[in-house]
Amino acid sequence: MGRKPAPLDLPVAYLRGVGAKKAEAFEKAGVHTLRDLFYYTPRRYLDRTGTIPIGSLSGATPDEVTIVGRITDARLVRGRGGKSRYEALLEDGTGGLRLVWFRRTNQIMRWIIPGFAAAFSGKVTQFDRVLQMAHPDVTSLAKGEIEDLKAGKGRWVALYPGGEDFDKVGLDTRGLRRLMDRLIGEFLPGVTDIWPDNYLKKLNIWPLERALAGVHRPHDATEHDRGWERIKFDELFMLQLLWAWTRRSRNEQRRGIAYPKVGETTREMIGRLPFELTEAQRRVLREIWGDMALPQPMSRLLQGDVGSGKTVVALVAMTIAVENGFQAALMVPTEILAEQHYLTSRRFLEALGVEVELLTGGANTKARKEKLARLAEGKPGIVIGTHALIQETVSMPKLGIVVIDEQHRFGVAQRLRLMEPRLEEGGGDARIHPDVIVMTATPIPRSLTLTLYGDLDVSRLDEMPPGRGVIETKAVNGEKERKALYREIRRRVEAGGRAYVVFPLVSESEKLDLQAAVEGREELAAGALKGIEVGLIHGRMKLAVKEEAMRRFADGSTPVLVATTVIEVGIDVPEATEMVIEHAERFGLAQLHQLRGRVGRGGRDSKCYLVAYPPVGETARSRIGAMVASTDGFLIAEEDLRIRGAGDIFGIRQHGMPELRFSDIVADHQLLIRARKVAEEVIEDDPELEGLPLLAGEFRRTALKRVTWLDVG
Ligand code: ADP
Ligand code: MG
Repeated sequence: MGRKPAPLDLPVAYLRGVGAKKAEAFEKAGVHTLRDLFYYTPRRYLDRTGTIPIGSLSGATPDEVTIVGRITDARLVRGRGGKSRYEALLEDGTGGLRLVWFRRTNQIMRWIIPGFAAAFSGKVTQFDRVLQMAHPDVTSLAKGEIEDLKAGKGRWVALYPGGEDFDKVGLDTRGLRRLMDRLIGEFLPGVTDIWPDNYLKKLNIWPLERALAGVHRPHDATEHDRGWERIKFDELFMLQLLWAWTRRSRNEQRRGIAYPKVGETTREMIGRLPFELTEAQRRVLREIWGDMALPQPMSRLLQGDVGSGKTVVALVAMTIAVENGFQAALMVPTEILAEQHYLTSRRFLEALGVEVELLTGGANTKARKEKLARLAEGKPGIVIGTHALIQETVSMPKLGIVVIDEQHRFGVAQRLRLMEPRLEEGGGDARIHPDVIVMTATPIPRSLTLTLYGDLDVSRLDEMPPGRGVIETKAVNGEKERKALYREIRRRVEAGGRAYVVFPLVSESEKLDLQAAVEGREELAAGALKGIEVGLIHGRMKLAVKEEAMRRFADGSTPVLVATTVIEVGIDVPEATEMVIEHAERFGLAQLHQLRGRVGRGGRDSKCYLVAYPPVGETARSRIGAMVASTDGFLIAEEDLRIRGAGDIFGIRQHGMPELRFSDIVADHQLLIRARKVAEEVIEDDPELEGLPLLAGEFRRTALKRVTWLDVG
């Protein structure tokens, strides 16, 4: 109450030169306070190394160049047919260059007039033996800025993100720079640093004041790089601090269960499995047992490709809980998956005498009521259902472990919410928190795991159970190689193989998608595969029809199955040995990897052919290259992240991904690892952040806003 806001909390309108209109434009861009304005950072910079003197031009340039100079002459030229163009002469002391506009001449002629100085970017072309630049990008500059650039004084000119809303209120690049100059001049000296000096030294990061100066007004590469490093470090650190803090408070505030019987029952169970566990499964189970034996609740991410044996691992963990007298819940995204998991678990658990209940959304029958009543009494057992169903309808007072099968559908927010099971209310063990395992079939690169799942311990199943065949992947280029490919398919099929041929989504319309597959099937049946039965499967078929198509494929009556991308999910025909992906250049890496996973499921060696038709872009070529090079989902995911950037990798929706404004988890990977380490140390040494009051304030103000449902102390 009555406390004066720190200067940086003042609204932007407090800055001289920012009136109501400008303030409104800033508001729209998410800039409310002076602090926000400091973080409204340049999009790029003009520096001397990026500009060239006109005198050095000897002809047309293949790439865009930037020239800094002043307009010395300009005129509207009437051409034939009433078309006119606007021509201006740009001079920079080393020569002159013609600038020309064919469109928007009415506006341009009022703006680009003699005396106007700016940086002009575009390709230089030659016309009638005269060099010219048509429709250049214009960055207007103040007199001092031009002189600095020319003199090579090294000052970089910051270019801020603009846009129409900004232009309309006089905030063009020059206007923005002028405001920023004022902000820096008047308020930068007042900027307080969240890091005390001893930390700055230890972390080897620049003080905020110096860093912001470096970001907004760099004089050289060092100032630019160190400035940005600091801004990015803070951003990555705050996220990692959030994760470290979440882990810590889970462990501190929550009583978990230390299961007494961990080793014995499990060994017995494993002995009764119909197969040997893989080395990876054993390692992961040791990690899980370690957690289960401790009194803190487990929070663990279990990663592994489809078929790597995650479900089996989860069932073992749930059985441990049950045999210690607790209840276990397996939550999956859809009812169909719940049914599948139910059937799998029964196979393993019936022999062990562990009760498994399937919970579906059906009618509230007597049987269902009895089921729920048994669970409410705390009877040990496993319940399988959808997330929603279990969360909303089940009371399990003896809940010991929750397994969440994500199937990469969830963002961070939903997951954190899921990990706060309301099941803790009521019942005798109300204050005890269950162990949580989150399973995901998406191979997620390490840097992304730290970003998305930073609050969890990570276990990886990076090995497939034995008995899967080897999959060889081949790139097939265009029509000519395609002919040879289908001759080979014919041979393989005649020798008892089964081939999928997948056609891509050619448009967003399901109808057109289907059409590509239908036509593809006709073409193959009448041409390259004449005489061989070719089946068809697509997403609009009724379930029974689909099943029939699958059955005929599996038993060999139609040894070739043309499909739309429906087979990406859930289809399992172990006999399938060949996978042809038509127009592979149109698929994303995640999809290609998932599709390839449909073959090699039986013991037989398989082949995957990626047919690409020119023109194949560079990205598509890298994707196909990555597929040919590796079958390891994790390697492929790393590659995908590198090719595409963190925006939308490997099927992870951007939705729910913590927003990173300044850093890029690929380019700033090392910084991310550092931030992680520092965050863990800080929370370890000073969990209440008592020695870092300003940092604590900033943490509450920003990071904790992301997860408002966590009880903030
Ligand atoms: P995920 O959940 O990772 O997709 P599952 O646990 O469902 O994988 O396992 C896939 C298939 O492999 C199942 O049929 C399962 O019985 C089998 N399986 C799991 N682990 C092994 C193993 N170590 N050896 C042989 N088969 C295994
Ligand atoms: Mg599974």
